[in-house]
Amino acid sequence: MDNECMDMLAEQWQQICQNYSSDDLLHAFQFIQDNAPVLVEEFYKQMLLEKESAEFFSDDLIQQRLRNTLHQWLIESFSVGINKHFLQAVQKQHTVGHVHARVGIPGWLIMRGIREINRKIFELLAENSHLLTLSACSYLMQITSLATEIMCRSYEARTAKNQEIKHSYRLFSAMQDVAVQKDKQRGSLLDWENELMFKVFSGQENFRHPMLSKSEFGLWFIHKASYAFTGSEQAQLIIDRIYEVDKLNQVLAESSNKEQKLELIQHIRELNREVQHLIDQLFQVAEYIENGNDSLTQLLNRRYLNTIVSREITYARQNRTPLALLALDADFFKTINDKFGHAAGDLALKFISENIQKYSRGSDYAFRVGGEEFLLLLVDTDQQRALGIAENIRKCIESGLLTTAQGIQFKCTVSIGCAIYDGHPDYQKFMDSADAALYAAKNTGRNRVYLLKNGPDTSTKSAGVPMA
Ligand code: GH3
Ligand code: MG
Ligand code: MG
Repeated sequence: MDNECMDMLAEQWQQICQNYSSDDLLHAFQFIQDNAPVLVEEFYKQMLLEKESAEFFSDDLIQQRLRNTLHQWLIESFSVGINKHFLQAVQKQHTVGHVHARVGIPGWLIMRGIREINRKIFELLAENSHLLTLSACSYLMQITSLATEIMCRSYEARTAKNQEIKHSYRLFSAMQDVAVQKDKQRGSLLDWENELMFKVFSGQENFRHPMLSKSEFGLWFIHKASYAFTGSEQAQLIIDRIYEVDKLNQVLAESSNKEQKLELIQHIRELNREVQHLIDQLFQVAEYIENGNDSLTQLLNRRYLNTIVSREITYARQNRTPLALLALDADFFKTINDKFGHAAGDLALKFISENIQKYSRGSDYAFRVGGEEFLLLLVDTDQQRALGIAENIRKCIESGLLTTAQGIQFKCTVSIGCAIYDGHPDYQKFMDSADAALYAAKNTGRNRVYLLKNGPDTSTKSAGVPMA
């Protein structure tokens, strides 16, 4: 949602407010203030009956936090008529929509809850019609609808973006294997064609040649490569050509007319050339896909960070497996650059990333998220293992001796923050916890591992445990 759209919505909010008297706006606000706890209660009571909501709201702690947020949302949305902060109100709904998209709460579930709030408002009025005038009540309905609409707008925009990133991540992960195979498979397509020609030109009668779709090349393309390029025009064209070749191959096997056979062979060869050409076109996007890697360290860069963390916390929640995140930052790195030069700094960054990889498994995810900042997402990993890995990485980096191109030796150290996933469905909270732990590791002396016990909301002083 761009600024222009936000301004337009702020204007609409203002217009709605202008349609009502200041008494209406004030009474509606008072009504919400008096009844917010009942409305919040209703929202969750009904929504929790939906089986999809269990995934997001099962935890008591989360419910408690969300209840407070919803309470605040109601109060804030109806203060706007009085404080006239329209644009700020729109921005707030926009942020809430983003959070929902991040967590993956479907838009309809929120609308389901809002419907219950609206129903409850009328129920309260039926019990006591003096609570609100008809026009104040109409104002209430207008605002809950507008606020929900803004959230949905921002939710959709964010979800579309996430889908785009997920798609390119799928390409990226499938490509790692596929790119290696490209040349090999091009060769096997040629082998298939040469064998066919040999059978035809050596005058074999009633020969059988495997279908292209069942050849090594065909199987590879249909099952693997086409997955990596799902949705691309070329992938579909290649599949179509493969099946066209199969049909011609079938006719060829049944034909006894030499001239017809030559024509068929010629046609098959043309189609195969087209397939090769299309494959080359497809693989040109590989360069773009490799943007997921950082060129200095070969670790993943930020591009897929949110997609991956979000996917892994969903997995951890659904399968009740532990998950840990380490945030690492090189200590006094500016000094290393200043003293030994930028090339030495680069060398240290490579050394740090090598150690991060050395102690993680193939299933873990290591990112270089900034200049000298790294994240290591440890799947299926509990606190004990996470701390063990963090400590190993820290020690190994501390004890390494690096040498500049001029032969000068130097050392570097890292500070590491460790967060254990606490079940909150918003991945940003998890990343914030790791950041807060790193911040604490820096503030308590650097070159150490710091475990943050209860998420970023808790004071690091009492909850944190410096490990080294
Ligand atoms: P702290 O212990 O508080 O983290 O101190 P610091 O000096 O490491 O932190 P600061 O964030 O002030 O400095 C980070 C430095 O990292 C600044 C920048 O010059 C350097 N840097 C960032 N990216 C690269 C890179 O790719 N190569 C090299 N050689 N240096 C980099
Ligand atoms: Mg830094
Ligand atoms: Mg640093």
